[in-house]
Amino acid sequence: MRCSVHGESHLYLGKHYRLKIAQGDENSVKLSRGFFHVTLRDEPNPEGAKKLLSKWYWAKASLQFNNTLERCWPRVARFAGSKPAISVKQMQKRWGSLSDKRTVTLNTNLVKAPKECIDYVVTHELCHLKHPDHSAEFYKLLDTVSPGWDKVKHKLELGMV
Ligand SMILES: [Zn+2]
Repeated sequence: MRCSVHGESHLYLGKHYRLKIAQGDENSVKLSRGFFHVTLRDEPNPEGAKKLLSKWYWAKASLQFNNTLERCWPRVARFAGSKPAISVKQMQKRWGSLSDKRTVTLNTNLVKAPKECIDYVVTHELCHLKHPDHSAEFYKLLDTVSPGWDKVKHKLELGMV
């Protein structure tokens, strides 16, 4: 099998890409023209491609989420204290969480969602720096820094992700 195209599609930042697996000199993942081009040193196989893709997703998630933090930080900087760290993890049921140690942990799969959804999750967690609970004050703050967040939340929940 030199190259194969798979029916299932994979998401990145809200866009669908189909999967093409080929053999080559180096393991790599590239996005172009609507395709995930996965190159494997070994005989191309879906398992190997899956492993490589999940590494790729993790690396992109880490990059994108840190960019998101930079983008969203000015909205909350005046009340949020020092900037938290970002950690990226595979999680079953949550998009994000905030620890006592000021680390925002985000689900790797969130990088499959459109940027506005990532912004929403990050901003939500950043608002917890001021209000740790889901009190009325928390939602008031979220409304102020992120107007229309509920529509974005809905989009994320309808989720293709
Ligand atoms: Zn929350």
